Amino acid sequence: LSDKLQGALGKLKSKGKLTEKDVKDAMREVKLALLEADVNFKVVKDFIKKVQERCVGQEVMTSLTPAQHVIKIVNEELTALMGDVQSKVMISSKPPTIIMMVGLQGAGKTTTSGKIGNYFKKQGKRPLLVACDVYRPAAIKQLQVVGEKLDIPVFNMGDKESPVNIAKAGLSHALKNNNDLVIIDTAGRLHIDETLMDELKSIKTEIKPHEILLVVDSMTGQDAVNVSQSFDEALGLDGVVLTKLDGDTRGGAALSIRAVTQKPIKFIGMGEKLDDLEPFYPDRMASRILGMGDVLSLIEKAQDAMDLEKAKELESKIRKQDFDFEDFLTQMEQIENMGPLDKIIGMMPGMGNIKNQLGDVDLNGKEMKRTKAIIQSMTLEERRKPELLNASRKRRIAKGSGTSVQDINRLVKQLNEMKKMMKMFMGNQKGMKKRGALG
Ligand code: GDP
Ligand code: MG
Repeated sequence: LSDKLQGALGKLKSKGKLTEKDVKDAMREVKLALLEADVNFKVVKDFIKKVQERCVGQEVMTSLTPAQHVIKIVNEELTALMGDVQSKVMISSKPPTIIMMVGLQGAGKTTTSGKIGNYFKKQGKRPLLVACDVYRPAAIKQLQVVGEKLDIPVFNMGDKESPVNIAKAGLSHALKNNNDLVIIDTAGRLHIDETLMDELKSIKTEIKPHEILLVVDSMTGQDAVNVSQSFDEALGLDGVVLTKLDGDTRGGAALSIRAVTQKPIKFIGMGEKLDDLEPFYPDRMASRILGMGDVLSLIEKAQDAMDLEKAKELESKIRKQDFDFEDFLTQMEQIENMGPLDKIIGMMPGMGNIKNQLGDVDLNGKEMKRTKAIIQSMTLEERRKPELLNASRKRRIAKGSGTSVQDINRLVKQLNEMKKMMKMFMGNQKGMKKRGALG
């Protein structure tokens, strides 16, 4: 899905101005990509309609970077489709919080019960796992193994007792033993049936869970959506855990579930290990689908490396447009602090390709060292007032830094271009802040 969407939107990037037809053509491809990823048909139709309406609006057509604008809109609408904000598990003010895990056989209930226990244990909770799958051979043993690995207690009564009774007894056990989180692992069937639903309904009635989480396998695509709908109608879901997103999934389920059931995805399973669980962030998922690179990690990295005071100083200088060689030097040092440039470029949205195109261009410092040498051979006055650099000064600096006058000229040109670029970047950043993409 990611590749297809990037392809469709990438074509727009090569165009300067966009016509309505350009947008329509791109949207047709986006639509096909979504359908191929097994996103629900009605969801796709509504989505495309919304995006198209926004894209042919005045603002996009007249903007300087219309393709960027279209991508931004697609990204925003994808995020909205998945619920905009992160949806958390409700922790009861009166412990224990009871979470009941439901879903079809093989979806990942038992594994996810352990993962969620582990997730909250790390946050200081004292979880108890309750083994209510009395049908599948070795289901109880499986949960016990999971509990042992995580050092989380598992309550079970063998497979002779009814799941409702086990759930009730598990709850009293938790109360006695000071467990403030109870996770109930239930049985699944290969398909939805009355007996399964009736049993789950009685557990729900008896123990009144705070959260009923449906576990669905993302590899099942549209089926995952149908399953969600049926479980929601029968039980009333509080949220969904989408498992196996690490696999070769087409990603459609993540996009349709929320839109069809109105129920939020709360966690995603990213592997078989008990650590492979992540809270679900709609905006991050949208960026991932669009292949925008790991923007957030990049920003976090930048924030770590940058001296905030210096960065602020720079920002105001750029605003006032008196960015000089001294600032250039500071800027370079800050970038050096962030680590190898090619890694950083790889993390930037849409830069993956550019990196390939750059090929053997030196990203790791030779050029940078030379630039530094040049600036360091300037007097403080020259650094602050680049316009002072006449022919004789340039010759002196070239000698001092072991470079040539052409090198100096190139650097002066670079500084001017950088000023221009920074001005543009500042404009963009304001836009990003507005839609909350930056911290
Ligand atoms: P249950 O029948 O619903 O209880 O499902 P299980 O918890 O027994 O999981 C079924 C299979 O799916 C097991 O082999 C798990 O290791 C695997 N599984 C569960 N979650 C994930 C996940 O997020 N990624 C991957 N790759 N495998 C998973
Ligand atoms: Mg199980």
